[in-house]
Amino acid sequence: MGEQVDVVVLGMGPGGEEAAGRLAEAGLTVVGIDGKLLGGECPYWGCVPSKMMIRAANLLAEARRVPGMAGAAAVTADWTPVARRIRHEATDNWDDRVAVERFEGRGGRFVRGWGRLDGPRRVVVGHDVYEARRAVVVNTGARPWAPPIPGLAELEDRYWTNRRAIETDTLPASLVVLGGGAIGVELGQVFARFGSEVSIVEAADRLVALEEPESGALLADVLGREGLQVVTSARITAVHHDTGRFVLELEGERPVVGDNLLVATGRRPDLQAIGAATIGVDESARALPVDGRLRVTDGVWGIGDITGVGAFTHVSMYQAHIVVEDILGHDPEPADYRALPRVTFTDPEIGSVGLSEAAARAQGLTVRTGSYPVPDSTRGWIHKAGNEGFIKLIEDAGRGVLVGATSAGPAGGEVLSMLTLAVHAEVPVHQLRRMIYAYPTFHRAVEAALGDLAS
Ligand SMILES: Cc1cc2nc3c(=O)[nH]c(=O)nc-3n(C[C@H](O)[C@H](O)[C@H](O)COP(=O)(O)OP(=O)(O)OC[C@H]3O[C@@H](n4cnc5c(N)ncnc54)[C@H](O)[C@@H]3O)c2cc1C
Repeated sequence: MGEQVDVVVLGMGPGGEEAAGRLAEAGLTVVGIDGKLLGGECPYWGCVPSKMMIRAANLLAEARRVPGMAGAAAVTADWTPVARRIRHEATDNWDDRVAVERFEGRGGRFVRGWGRLDGPRRVVVGHDVYEARRAVVVNTGARPWAPPIPGLAELEDRYWTNRRAIETDTLPASLVVLGGGAIGVELGQVFARFGSEVSIVEAADRLVALEEPESGALLADVLGREGLQVVTSARITAVHHDTGRFVLELEGERPVVGDNLLVATGRRPDLQAIGAATIGVDESARALPVDGRLRVTDGVWGIGDITGVGAFTHVSMYQAHIVVEDILGHDPEPADYRALPRVTFTDPEIGSVGLSEAAARAQGLTVRTGSYPVPDSTRGWIHKAGNEGFIKLIEDAGRGVLVGATSAGPAGGEVLSMLTLAVHAEVPVHQLRRMIYAYPTFHRAVEAALGDLAS
């Protein structure tokens, strides 16, 4: 017989930490288990340090924009001290003492170890067994996934994933980024701005392929002008490592070569590693199947990347709130992802919410779109260097509400906030047109895009 507790949280990513902490504060006995660091990928190797790197790289880029605006010399910076500061400040050298203290201060108990499910309400960690009277919450995240390109698997020990890219304090002279999704373009731009020669190789026909085509085109243009090599629609036939360099062989094109290779082709959960079959889940599935309240089966809930909804910290946290309410018997509203926001923190930032134009049309909606270039707005004109971007709105004309939007440009992720609210609250377009938009802000381009809405 194992140790009896109310709740076991297996995997303590952002959502798991939040759920475990809140349930402990509610008076339940909660054990939170993690094989690595309490807090998961986001604070140590994900969102936080990558955004610190981006902030440093954007400062450099801003300083380089001074000539022509206010007049100044070219600016360079050493990568190593920046990388060391980020490692120290963002992650305290990958030490989670503060997070453990915070969690235990809320009343939970932290167990470090790799756990496996052993039936719906049992979790095994080494020789220890935890039996949950009320709930097991699974928040074990996802791992970097690499495509089956000949030669790539053999190089797993040599190439970078996000962890090594975040940990490095040595700037590679040249870097090949495999994958032009959010992580690939964000990190590619950072390393290029610090001085690496960067090539981004993407199999889809555009960068950030999950976003509007205009977003991919904008990034390809900006990154190209910053000196990155961008290869889309790439058919990679083989990868090898010759005389200290990675070589990507491409069908019909010259090979792409670099000192380092960053594989940023997505992340997938490992259901086998957590013993998902013991709760009746097919371990070859791409995600843990959950219902609207994140229930997998009786007594088991899932949170975060493992649910396959969207690999974002805000999704993990949002789901955690529903799970907490459900476990406490408060009958929460089911999850609603209509207004799920996403931000790619490149410069320009690509913020988007809800449906793309193609997705809205695929749903059979009567779609009207409106767009406006940020450089044509007063604020864009004032901003000048670095003002690239656009607003794109997707209206369900049948109901007269926005169902999707993109805000690309300086502070595009911040401008997105009002569009997220509009999609979430289904604010009628005629109401949005009657609002007063402060002058001269970037968000005033939203008003101009509303004026452009047409079938
Ligand atoms: C480079 C990068 C940048 C990102 N930037 C952003 C961003 O800007 N904004 C954003 O919203 N998201 C971003 N993300 C995504 C974000 O990090 C994740 O969506 C977020 O961490 C939520 O994941 P999660 O809650 O599923 O758990 P994770 O953070 O993946 O944590 C899972 C935890 O479970 C533990 N675990 C796994 N298996 C076991 C086991 N068997 N036993 C015990 N413990 C286990 C792991 O050690 C880990 O601590 C980024 C990701 C990366 C890689």
